Amino acid sequence: MPRPPKTRRVGLIPSITYFNPTGASALEADVIRLGLDEWEALRLKDYMGLDQNDCARYMNLTQSTFQRILTSARLKLTSVVVEGKPLRIEGGNYEVINRWSCRLCGYEWEDFGEPDEKITHCPSCGLEGVEKEVYGSGWGQPGCQGHGRGRRRRRGR
Ligand SMILES: [Zn+2]
Repeated sequence: MPRPPKTRRVGLIPSITYFNPTGASALEADVIRLGLDEWEALRLKDYMGLDQNDCARYMNLTQSTFQRILTSARLKLTSVVVEGKPLRIEGGNYEVINRWSCRLCGYEWEDFGEPDEKITHCPSCGLEGVEKEVYGSGWGQPGCQGHGRGRRRRRGR
């Protein structure tokens, strides 16, 4: 029996999950489905401009698996642009990972859980109000691609 696929780590959940270029109602069969793992691959590599090694490491994947997911995601996105099909972001094999970094003592840690838990306290020094760190913080702001590149992570695996 083949081994079950490794769970792919996703650091952010998209806020908009449905895109319909024509605005017309669409048959479900025509909707292209982009998995959360595929969305994360696009976000890290093409949007953030991160190095492919880093992308694979962030998602807990081998480079070849990451490349395969990225290729599939690009193809889906391209068919939306070329064919004008609606796109829905849903499903995929993934778990949400939260990374935290304390601005007071510098302690860094990870946990898995609900994406809406954006604030917690530091388990090392007890500082309240530590904010969730998204890869390459500053995401979504033009000109911030790769902002978090090369940062050392104490607990990198
Ligand atoms: Zn701390």
